[in-house]
Amino acid sequence: MTGSGNRHVARSEKLSLDENSQRAMEAAARHAIAYRATLDTAPAKPDLRPDAIAARFEGPLGETGEDALSVIEQIVQEATAGIHAHASPRFFGYVCGGSMPVGAAADFLVTAWGQNSASSWESPSIAAMEQAVCRWCLDLLGLDPECGAGIVTGATVANAQCIIAARDALLARQGWDIDELGLFGAPEIPILIGSDAHSAPLAGLRYAGLGLGRAIRLETDDQGRIQIDALQAALSRCENPPLVILQAGQINTGAFDPFAEAIPLIHERGGWVHVDGAFGLWAYAVPELKDRLSGVDGADSWAVDLHKWLNAPYDAGLSIVRDRSVLVAAMSARGAYLPDLGDTWEPSDSTLELSRRARGIPSYAILKHLGATGVREMIAHHCGLAQYLAEKLIEVPGIDVLNEVTLNQVAIACETDAITKQVLDRVQTNGQVYPSHGEWRGRQIIRVSITNYATSQADIDLLIQEILTAHRLVEGI
Ligand SMILES: *Cc1c(COP(=O)(O)O)cnc(C)c1O
Repeated sequence: MTGSGNRHVARSEKLSLDENSQRAMEAAARHAIAYRATLDTAPAKPDLRPDAIAARFEGPLGETGEDALSVIEQIVQEATAGIHAHASPRFFGYVCGGSMPVGAAADFLVTAWGQNSASSWESPSIAAMEQAVCRWCLDLLGLDPECGAGIVTGATVANAQCIIAARDALLARQGWDIDELGLFGAPEIPILIGSDAHSAPLAGLRYAGLGLGRAIRLETDDQGRIQIDALQAALSRCENPPLVILQAGQINTGAFDPFAEAIPLIHERGGWVHVDGAFGLWAYAVPELKDRLSGVDGADSWAVDLHKWLNAPYDAGLSIVRDRSVLVAAMSARGAYLPDLGDTWEPSDSTLELSRRARGIPSYAILKHLGATGVREMIAHHCGLAQYLAEKLIEVPGIDVLNEVTLNQVAIACETDAITKQVLDRVQTNGQVYPSHGEWRGRQIIRVSITNYATSQADIDLLIQEILTAHRLVEGI
């Protein structure tokens, strides 16, 4: 054919959305909504054990494919019994956000859009919304708006990115170009980190090639905060500018390191302060709580999750570096085939990934939905519930709260480790609520983390009742 009609690209035989695919997408949305609608009353633990679930998925890949709708229906049918209710308001294990519905809805769009969100040039709407997320979060967290921020998969990667940026900057200060020379023969970087740090920054040290065995573990107090005299003594022995890793929110106690005292001491030695604030940094958003984090804004880098206390669906955290150029120099994989974008804000310049999911969009939706006041109220509400829980439990003979409850974490222990473990086992098996296991100062604990957007006082009352009932049964009283 000739003529103007030929200017349109010929349609392929296969539609990008055939009827069956459309029905599959609708079914997925319907099942997702049905799942969320039962979350308040469903058991907080999976019905089946991991081995029973694994058996359902052991078969080989079929030679012929199956239609989209039946694939989705099968997934729902086979997987649901092994889905842990991490998003439930009665799930108190680890530190889990609730995958807030508005964020989950935005996540549907992210997946359907299928944007490669590396650049503002490829994906202008995503870059603009993600930049807004960074700006809003820096503001809520009380950090300098000029900081560099990358939206990554979570706090483990956020910690690793910050540690890599710190490594590069500290070596540059000693005249070492790591991009050209690598780590072999480089000057030493002394590493100082608290004895009660999370495993994530420890992994970051390994990923960055800094050596875990070389890290000096600083002594901590009964809440897991580093001791200033231990820091001072270690700093006085550092020959080169050190990397010091502090923590906002210890996983068992919720405690904060003494930033206001520690950070100036580290900076006096030319060091870099990184703060792992996976959940705890969010306390800064609440005026009544921010004093506890006093001085934290003076650090050089921070790791914080969006999928914990902000309740974003999984796959979201922020890696923040005061000097944006250090973060971009460490992370950018910009190749010759990308145009020179000057000073524009490019999502992939601040992350390890080049091609990347638009993982900031659910957080954009949640922040817009809650507003600054909503974020503050949610965090303050959780801290209030943690206080309430602790107050109720310490009245009970034979039950102890091991931490000073200043945040959202409560470390509960019974008379002996054996009793604590049995009580936890009964509570978890009963499935009404789900706290997780932990260990603190040599004792087994029942660890409660209150971070779900929908958790109410009634949920905490149920948790108390479950613990007390299990305790009575285990004690035989
Ligand atoms: C959860 C957590 C991490 C790791 O974050 P992920 O989101 O699991 O990667 C790091 N540090 C602290 C204090 C945490 O609570």
